[in-house]
Amino acid sequence: MKFSIKLVLSTMIVLALALGFSGFYFVNYVFETSLEREVGQSLDESSILSFAFETAALNVPLKYSVMPDSVVEEIVSKLEMGGQGGGRLLRIADEEKNILYTSSGFTADEGLLPQTDEHTKSYRVIRAQDSFYVHTCVSINALNRNLYLETMKDVTGVFTERAMGFSLYRKVTVAILLTGTVIMLFIASLLTKPIRLLTRATREMAAGDYAYRARQVSRDELGQLTGDFNRMANALEENICKLEEEIEAREEFMGAFAHELKTPLTAIIGYADMLRSHKMDEEKSIMSANYIYTEGKRLEAMSFRLLDIIVAKQEEAQMQETPVGELFAYLREMFAEKRDVDIRFTHEEAVVKMEANLIKTVLVNLIDNACKASDGGMTGVVEVTGQTEDGGYRIAVRDYGIGIPEAEQSKIVKAFYMVDKSRARSKNGAGLGLALCAEILKIHHSELRIESKEGEGSCFSFLLP
Ligand code: ADP
Repeated sequence: MKFSIKLVLSTMIVLALALGFSGFYFVNYVFETSLEREVGQSLDESSILSFAFETAALNVPLKYSVMPDSVVEEIVSKLEMGGQGGGRLLRIADEEKNILYTSSGFTADEGLLPQTDEHTKSYRVIRAQDSFYVHTCVSINALNRNLYLETMKDVTGVFTERAMGFSLYRKVTVAILLTGTVIMLFIASLLTKPIRLLTRATREMAAGDYAYRARQVSRDELGQLTGDFNRMANALEENICKLEEEIEAREEFMGAFAHELKTPLTAIIGYADMLRSHKMDEEKSIMSANYIYTEGKRLEAMSFRLLDIIVAKQEEAQMQETPVGELFAYLREMFAEKRDVDIRFTHEEAVVKMEANLIKTVLVNLIDNACKASDGGMTGVVEVTGQTEDGGYRIAVRDYGIGIPEAEQSKIVKAFYMVDKSRARSKNGAGLGLALCAEILKIHHSELRIESKEGEGSCFSFLLP
């Protein structure tokens, strides 16, 4: 069952119970009050009648010392006249509680007589045929007689009013419940709107639409839930995007790896086949063996680089406070033999937290690339600088060589990516150097910044926090 229907049903049940009980209580209260009033009036009337009887007894001729039954009947039959509706219902009994006179229509039994004595008045509500009456009984003392006067007053109206009250209240309750159901359906639909929107969002997301978000239509707890759900969906979408990118990168990597493996292997297999199947002169044999050797070397270098990348990915950096001077001294010594390019080192002294061996690998790669890019032109100058700036220490490698086209700049960090494949291969490159640098910088919470202009040169730098 829908939540909104449950809400409507439970509200209606509570409302029906409340209306039922309050209605019953109210109608009954009105009835009891009216009946009490009628009883009061009946008792008053019987008191008045007994007084009237006693007054009438005073007029009885003096010859009687005790009032005879015939006089009693005469007075009662006179009292019978009058009252509402053209006559009273009276009954009178003597001291022995024997009935002396009964008005026609007085149908009550004699149940009240035994309960009444000289000092008490008694009453009860009785039902005779389809009518209700207040039946009273009082004692009268007149002319040495102790008589009992009973009256019957029709109170059917009070009972009819109660029945009408119940019937009216039932109709009002049904009308209120029907209108209430319509109003509650509308309110429940408004209240459960955030739930419906959330359900729709979960279904859309389950069907693969990760960008779908639930609309926030309220500021209450359900609104907050929608907000939290959307935040969760954002995080989920971000992670899924990352995973998809990672899978794509891995697939690209595998493709490039297979391709890079194929080129040297084809050369190696081709030359080896030539060597074993043809008789070649010595010069050609040496040349073939040479190809096999250089291509094999290239494969070896590539596998080492790949290993380095895998290790860098898994490694946790062992950061140490390192004086930058030490790093630069190592690089100066390393490239001291390089004659074709003028490598200039300048740095600001500082102590920086780093894994020195890994940062050396990054810088050797960057300087190597800068030298390769400067190679063969008038622009054989490479500047390696280190200086403090906001947020850390920046080390930069600048060359004035061939530069990198803008469209390629974002791709060169990917494994096996080379801007000019034949040029890179001729210099023993496999497109893995910058990928390794990026991995090493990642564990230093840093990244490569590449500024380059085709034909003017490039600047590769990174900031060590
Ligand atoms: P490789 O082993 O080929 O040098 P890298 O990952 O180090 O691989 O470099 C990827 C590609 O980026 C290179 O093949 C080259 O085309 C380009 N590149 C890298 N550094 C420079 C630079 N300083 N100037 C111009 N091109 C560069």
